[in-house]
Amino acid sequence: TLPKLPVFEAISKHDPESTAVIHSKSGRRFQYGELLGDVAKTRDRLYESAGRENLDGERIAFLAENSYDYVVTLLAILAAKSIAVPMSPAFPASELQYILNHSEALMLLSTAKFASKAQEVLKTELDIQPTFLQLDKFQGGGPHEKVTLDKSGPGSAGMMLYTSGTTNRPKGVLIPQAAMTAQAHSLIQAWEYAPSDHLLHLLPLHHIHGTINAIYTPLFAGSSIEFLYPFNADAVWKRLAAPFTTSPEQPKITFLTAVPTIYSRLLSSFKTLPEDLQDAARESISPPHLRLTISGSAALPTPIKRLWTHLSKGNILLERFGMTEVGMALSCGLDPNDRVDGSVGWPLPGVEARLVDVDTHQVIEKGQEKDLETGRERVGEIQLRGPTIFAEYWRNEEATKKEFVEGKDGKGPWFKTGDVAVRRPGPEKAGKSEMKTQKEWARGDMYFILGRKSADIIKSGGEKVSALEVEREMLSLPRVAEVAVVAVPSGKWGQKVGAVVVLDKEYCKEGKWSPLEMRRALKDKLAGYKIPQVLRVVENIPRNAMGKINKKVLVKEVFREEFS
Ligand code: ATP
Ligand code: MG
Repeated sequence: TLPKLPVFEAISKHDPESTAVIHSKSGRRFQYGELLGDVAKTRDRLYESAGRENLDGERIAFLAENSYDYVVTLLAILAAKSIAVPMSPAFPASELQYILNHSEALMLLSTAKFASKAQEVLKTELDIQPTFLQLDKFQGGGPHEKVTLDKSGPGSAGMMLYTSGTTNRPKGVLIPQAAMTAQAHSLIQAWEYAPSDHLLHLLPLHHIHGTINAIYTPLFAGSSIEFLYPFNADAVWKRLAAPFTTSPEQPKITFLTAVPTIYSRLLSSFKTLPEDLQDAARESISPPHLRLTISGSAALPTPIKRLWTHLSKGNILLERFGMTEVGMALSCGLDPNDRVDGSVGWPLPGVEARLVDVDTHQVIEKGQEKDLETGRERVGEIQLRGPTIFAEYWRNEEATKKEFVEGKDGKGPWFKTGDVAVRRPGPEKAGKSEMKTQKEWARGDMYFILGRKSADIIKSGGEKVSALEVEREMLSLPRVAEVAVVAVPSGKWGQKVGAVVVLDKEYCKEGKWSPLEMRRALKDKLAGYKIPQVLRVVENIPRNAMGKINKKVLVKEVFREEFS
């Protein structure tokens, strides 16, 4: 038997013959009917290896490739009422060590593939002594065992995910099972995951995007998940196109969720595909086949959005905003008219959001989005509350306390996201599906992210500049392939706007390029004080697993002399 977690209740109601997971490379399939049996078996192995049948609230770390084995392991840890700590197999030993120590893991599990890596880490000096267990490899086609759910509750089951570490050392975020479930329900309502959805999974599995959005939620909904990992743009195109060319029997991909760098790499790779494959690939991402294409984890550059729309015959990328601590919080709607450039939409079902003016610290109420005196838009920090929000930073009461602020209405504290935004009314006229969206999930005013308070708001001579806004405009210049806009110290202005640029090789091959020329090109796009005063060209901009840039490190690296 398994404890009565909502995820197990949901899975036990799905058609047992329907596909839960496919491994893209081998074509191996796993059905919903075998999933809970494998979960119960694995949970029992955890008990056996720990030498006790109570692991409530214990942290269990694991290393697994993107596969059915990962899914079973995650659910087995929840079934033991423990806290699952997924780690990236791509992490160096020092990072794994940090997570094992920090989470005080009782056990370390691994698939055969990463067993030696796991053993190696265990040989290093650790503060704790986790028990090691090598996991079974499931082949698929196992018996459909009837698993019953007992009356026992979820205990302290949950996940501990580490933030991307974009601004600092990754923080351990404790997400109780109830918050995971609330997130899944919210996304199902908003994005309408269904058993007919076949999701292509291209993401790492130690962050919220790859886990809650792309595994936990589809499992609730009875969708199927196909793993294609590590990411390879050509392989993705081949897979997307397969049902339209050589393999009509393969399921069509209906749902894709990824980070902007993945879309960018797909767009570059598309140009190099053979022509017949190009046609099929275009067809595969066009309506009605690819039902929903979502982007998030970092700001979606408008040129990528536009190119994708063009390539996919009008299938506009849906942008959303989320973070480890809160899951998904804001999202554009299913109605394509609601996918406004530069906006991440409005609060998802169950999520309450507000903007708090970064200067006056007053809540920006509806209708107060503009400063009456200056007519300028008011910039506010996004604050959130609701059942989807995390419980605490693990063993860091101070940080937890610091990031929450009590509400005046007595309805509980708000989480300070550290991201700032402006809010504008949504488009007046939405399309046909508006009625439905209205009923299910009311449209709200739209949020436009300006960036992180700590790294993306540049204060130059009394003006505030959003790094994201400048980046968006610079990316629309043909010669710019990639850019990071950063605050550079300035004796005169306090801070000045700096830009680190990767040039587009094709475009810049012949023509000369100069900072002056680039600044000139920005003149009719940006106010003078927003145009970068210092520009540096680099070969590439380092990004982490989620395609994000650590600007603190980058700026010191590139503008070394300005810091001395
Ligand atoms: P750390 O907290 O360790 O510095 P991180 O904040 O990058 O790392 P995550 O929780 O994975 O770790 O990412 C959340 C952040 O990602 C948000 O706070 C926000 O800055 C950024 N983000 C997510 N989605 C979007 C989006 N659509 N547009 C702009 N930024 C986004
Ligand atoms: Mg963060």
